[in-house]
Amino acid sequence: MRSIEHFINGQSVADAKRLSDVWNPSQGEVQAQVGLGTAATLQRAVDAALAAQPAWAATNPQRRARVMFKFKELIETNMDQLAELLASEHGKVVADAKGDVQRGLEVIEYACSIPQALKGEYTQGAGPGIDVYSMRQPLGIGAGITPFNFPAMIPMWMFGMAIACGNAFILKPSERDPSVPVRLAELMQEAGLPDGLLNVVHGDKEMVDAILDHPDIAGISFVGSSDIAQYIYSRGTANGKRVQAFGGAKNHGIVLPDADLDQVVNDLTGAAFGSAGERCMALPVVVPVGDDTAAALREKLVPAIEKLRVGISTDPEAHYGPVVNEAHKQRVENYIQMCVDEGGELVVDGRGFMLQGHEKGFFVGPTLFDHVKPHFRSYKEEIFGPVLQIVRADTFEEAVRLPSEHEYGNGVAIFTRNGHAAREFVSRVNVGMVGVNVPIPVPVSYHSFGGWKRSGFGDIGQYGQEGMRFWTRTKVVTQRWPDGTAAGDHKEAFIIPTMG
Ligand code: NAD
Repeated sequence: MRSIEHFINGQSVADAKRLSDVWNPSQGEVQAQVGLGTAATLQRAVDAALAAQPAWAATNPQRRARVMFKFKELIETNMDQLAELLASEHGKVVADAKGDVQRGLEVIEYACSIPQALKGEYTQGAGPGIDVYSMRQPLGIGAGITPFNFPAMIPMWMFGMAIACGNAFILKPSERDPSVPVRLAELMQEAGLPDGLLNVVHGDKEMVDAILDHPDIAGISFVGSSDIAQYIYSRGTANGKRVQAFGGAKNHGIVLPDADLDQVVNDLTGAAFGSAGERCMALPVVVPVGDDTAAALREKLVPAIEKLRVGISTDPEAHYGPVVNEAHKQRVENYIQMCVDEGGELVVDGRGFMLQGHEKGFFVGPTLFDHVKPHFRSYKEEIFGPVLQIVRADTFEEAVRLPSEHEYGNGVAIFTRNGHAAREFVSRVNVGMVGVNVPIPVPVSYHSFGGWKRSGFGDIGQYGQEGMRFWTRTKVVTQRWPDGTAAGDHKEAFIIPTMG
């Protein structure tokens, strides 16, 4: 059995006291085991980070950027192997796994411009002979705690920015698909990153709590489910750390009567069922405005859903693969039953899906519900599976209200040809990331990512300029270089200096 080890100070470190199974979801079999670390494991990573970070912070930003350039090249060379490894542990199809790597790589590309991003501000002559300038300095040691659903992209969002800014980084990836994060750390080392600056420690709550309580870790970035995000935010900030914690989602796609329904169906099937619905920016709720729109949409949607091909992650024809594990398959199927019990109309039922030759795989067929109501628990909660719910709205106002009043506020999309309606929607909707005729509006790497309400705790986004701000703090310097001839009036020193 393959074992997956920590990566600390540039080396593999075994830690076999507690082991966790890593599955191949397409086959429904255990393919490896990962050793879960303890506070002692974390301490080794912190020691390595403390030793390496000051010299890295003192390395000029252009040299730090060169490591990112080289890393980008290595990722591109290793793309196929990374995507296959990722797909084998996560279950998403290989083409989609390449997208996972690519969206992380785009943040690395942004991190290549870190000398530009880090430039400070300067005011000459803020007072007589006085200049004021600000600089961005790294926090020291940053940590990232990441979910199973993007094992390449989300770690790269975090460590790419943190390390380019001059920090050392400790990554605690999901224990369900931990191999790619380790491989990324090895490639960073190959790209020239000195040992100790990117460490990967595996573990569960025990390791996470050790990170939250460690006095030498200054900043924590978390992505995962909302209850855990809130816990991470509360405990981390109570310990005086800077924390950003992104949570779950229930994104809505609003369809106005004038929308191009062929485009909507095309976009929706990809956004609702791609990656088996296990994306925080998936579109699991569609809101057609008016019964005519709903009927026309449903008529086109059903055959498109019935044509979807569910397959193993290496099937090049498959639209999506299995969900991550047996427990999650069960959870998704329970939500389907819940929605039936609550009175939703089950139009396409994906339960009991069996793939010939892969009967043990964790597959769930595509599922469609109509007439789902806002008070259903299955609507209020995140299902995180290949389940699309139609919630009909009578008016535009109602369509704005649904995502705005939902407790999650990650992403939302509106489909229309009416620019005025789209503009109105964009300005009023109470959600952090909005797509206009774009189903999955994950911002490009030079903007920043961040949901609202229970989708995001903390006040600063991932990557882009916000990521740079998160991983640095501002120092402001007020300086004067007197020529030594002024007659000093020491009384003035007792009055607060003003610019009056
Ligand atoms: P999860 O919350 O179960 O796990 C995330 C991380 O937290 C993992 O590293 C895990 O080991 C750790 N963890 C789990 N339980 C813990 C506990 N009790 N105490 C401390 N740490 C714990 O999430 P997941 O199932 O891996 O990922 C899916 C979730 O992530 C979904 O809710 C999805 O919407 C969300 N997600 C959000 C975003 C976003 O940007 N908002 C992006 C991707 C995924």
